[in-house]
Amino acid sequence: MDELTEREIRGSFVNCSQGEAKRLPMPRELAALPWSDLDFLGWTDSGAPDRGYLVTAHREDLVGITLRKPPPGPKSLMRSSICSLCLTAHTSNGVSLFTARKSGAAGRQGNSRGTYICADLACSLYLRKKKRTEASQADESISLDEKVLRLQLNLDSFLVSVLEN
Ligand SMILES: [Zn+2]
Repeated sequence: MDELTEREIRGSFVNCSQGEAKRLPMPRELAALPWSDLDFLGWTDSGAPDRGYLVTAHREDLVGITLRKPPPGPKSLMRSSICSLCLTAHTSNGVSLFTARKSGAAGRQGNSRGTYICADLACSLYLRKKKRTEASQADESISLDEKVLRLQLNLDSFLVSVLEN
């Protein structure tokens, strides 16, 4: 994705108030992020471990959503779990259920959408093998480009479900 400025990032959020968007923590060292390896910008905040943030190009727009995840609990008994966006397999707590408040009136009424995503929101880096998990991955014969496309389509449908009212 193209490099973004703090102003662009803060201006992209669709499911929180402008005040919240102004205050939310930015990723550290924006300019140093591996932008060309990112399909979306995702980050978490060590000061608020139940929060996550995701910004991506979506149908000609830049769309940002704030996410919540359950606090880290005892190690999961599941041997592995799979991200529903990038399909990377993780051990124990490597995948989290992230919930996004819907945008607009539906969100104000308390409606939300959730999905299982890599807990560090680093799907793009797992697909490019810049980050690895200890779980064994499905043996797939499709190319990186096809995996990236699949990630984008999965993210697109999640965003549609958050944006629709
Ligand atoms: Zn993922």
